[in-house]
Amino acid sequence: MGANPVVYGEAYGFNPKTLLIYGHYDVQPPEPLEEWKTPPFEAAEAEHERIVARGASDSKGNVKAIESYKALNFDLPLNLKVIFEGEEEIGSPNLPKYIETYRGRLKADAAIYFDGGLDYKGRPGISLGLKGILYVEFRCKTAKTDGHSSLAPLIENPAWKLINALKSLKNEGGRILIEGWYDDVKVPTEEDISLLEEINEEDHKRSIEELKRHFAVEDLLGNVEGLEAIKKLLFEPTCNIAGLCSGYTGPSSKTVLPSEAYAKIDFRLVYDQNPGKLFEKLKVHMKIRGFRDIEIKLLGSLEPSKTPTSAPIAKAVKMAAEKTYGVKPQAAPMSSGSGPDYVFTKRLGVHSVWTGCAPIFSNAHAPNEFITKKTFLDGIVYASLIMENSHRCESPFSAGELRVKTRFNTLGGSSST
Ligand SMILES: [Zn+2]
Repeated sequence: MGANPVVYGEAYGFNPKTLLIYGHYDVQPPEPLEEWKTPPFEAAEAEHERIVARGASDSKGNVKAIESYKALNFDLPLNLKVIFEGEEEIGSPNLPKYIETYRGRLKADAAIYFDGGLDYKGRPGISLGLKGILYVEFRCKTAKTDGHSSLAPLIENPAWKLINALKSLKNEGGRILIEGWYDDVKVPTEEDISLLEEINEEDHKRSIEELKRHFAVEDLLGNVEGLEAIKKLLFEPTCNIAGLCSGYTGPSSKTVLPSEAYAKIDFRLVYDQNPGKLFEKLKVHMKIRGFRDIEIKLLGSLEPSKTPTSAPIAKAVKMAAEKTYGVKPQAAPMSSGSGPDYVFTKRLGVHSVWTGCAPIFSNAHAPNEFITKKTFLDGIVYASLIMENSHRCESPFSAGELRVKTRFNTLGGSSST
């Protein structure tokens, strides 16, 4: 299957520095459709100044910021290189190849991963790293066909087998039991902890309270609260069953012995775990534990990323956030989410900051996703101010061969295959 095209554009500003802006144009599937109040792909206006559509709150504001300079006939404050990919929601499987192919063209002083959102105080989340991910599928087939459940004493049930395999992956406390899983974990560092401690304890408590309220959950795993919960969220590798299926799940009953069972599992990885190495360790674990006939399929992977607190782009983003939103922003050493940020930090070797302008609990990836008009407009200002501030920050990298003149030049779609 061919890759979705990566859309690339360049624009020149009056400062020789170059900022690489990353965004994505793909979205999650809209299902379940019956829960949408308006059609998911029609951008309907709704109460509280909301614009409702699939993708409404996802990676917005950055293009409009560039357009506004053009509309006002202003010179851009620095050179821009913009890439929009169409496979972020499926783990960016082709982006690393694209980055490798166009490494020279993509040379920049820093990168901005514009895809995040605001916190409960209306401040944009700013993260100096993203978690990685390893996404796999387990498939267990024990018979050619489903059978009568009276045969259960004789024929192995794949659902039980799969459950036993899943149980072998982690203990009750959440510790992953695959040998060597934590070998390359390099976080939290002292810098990570001090960055978190700079954040008011009240803020940690509040964001955890908001999370519990939103999901109507009384206690969190391990009964953690405040800073402890945040540390667990940001620095703990996870093993999550994303889907589990076997046998009859329809109305009423059916006495059946299923022939097949499968599960989808995502492992979130912290710096500096490598998904390729961990996939091999998982396969060894399954073999040793006697699950060699469970088929393991790799569905996707992303490496974790990390940018130091002292990075000039981090300073630029914080300045822009404070000016736009009027509140002192707080940078986190890591986000609990994942994305292809490592292609900038590890493959291109530039500092990268993840941020964005989506409203908090905007139903992202869920029915009735929305952005409010205010957060959308603020996001445009925020993205513009990041550009304004980036060129003022001292850069540790060379700007290379870039020309200093204002010119908009969209190179159009170029496929990463
Ligand atoms: Zn996104």
